Amino acid sequence: MENQQKRQSRETKNISVGHDLHQFDYSDLLRWNKQWVAETLAEDPDYFKKLSKGQNPPILWIGCADSRVPANQITGTNPGDIFVHRNIANMVIHTDMNMLSVLDYAVSVLRVKHVIVCGHYGCGGVLAAMSHKQFGLIDNWLRHIKDVYRTHSDELEKIADETERRMRLVELNVIENVYNLCKTSTLQNAWKQGHELSVHGWVYSLETGIINDLNVSFNSDEKLGSVFKFDAK
Ligand code: ZN
Repeated sequence: MENQQKRQSRETKNISVGHDLHQFDYSDLLRWNKQWVAETLAEDPDYFKKLSKGQNPPILWIGCADSRVPANQITGTNPGDIFVHRNIANMVIHTDMNMLSVLDYAVSVLRVKHVIVCGHYGCGGVLAAMSHKQFGLIDNWLRHIKDVYRTHSDELEKIADETERRMRLVELNVIENVYNLCKTSTLQNAWKQGHELSVHGWVYSLETGIINDLNVSFNSDEKLGSVFKFDAK
């Protein structure tokens, strides 16, 4: 009976797959919220009391805004575990005050141990950047991905298969954004101060649910191009 109820509630909440979206009302979310609170309290009556005392997440996640790539669900983690920043195509742009503020707070105040840039194959932002179509304001944001393409055009244009080329650009975009993280004064200062902090680049597969570690991890500015290195303050 309990399993049946759980199965039913999962099916009801799956609003965008196999259901008519016109049947969905936003107030359903509020109803499901109450249901989730009741289920959570049934398992642990102190759950919210404990979580409300503060956060101490060991991870900062920089991911895509795509609705299919939620940080907690795909890593099997819970509220309180991951500090999250998401934008279109998981970008680290050095003039983005939002990203920089999240990064600085996560590193300097929360003292996270890992920063993960997680892209995903089939990313609409990357696909749009590979096209010549105009999408509006977002074209200015996607320009950064076109720059990644230009930097790696020799490698990319040798890939005959279009799907494989798109997948590789998704990976290269993550790698470039990992480098962009390493270039920030926030990370460089943290490393200079002996803060044990690693940066990683991952790509999630929408088709399998598996995360591919691109093995581009850094825990110092050792390999950073000299022009990007700052002196100690
Ligand atoms: Zn995406």
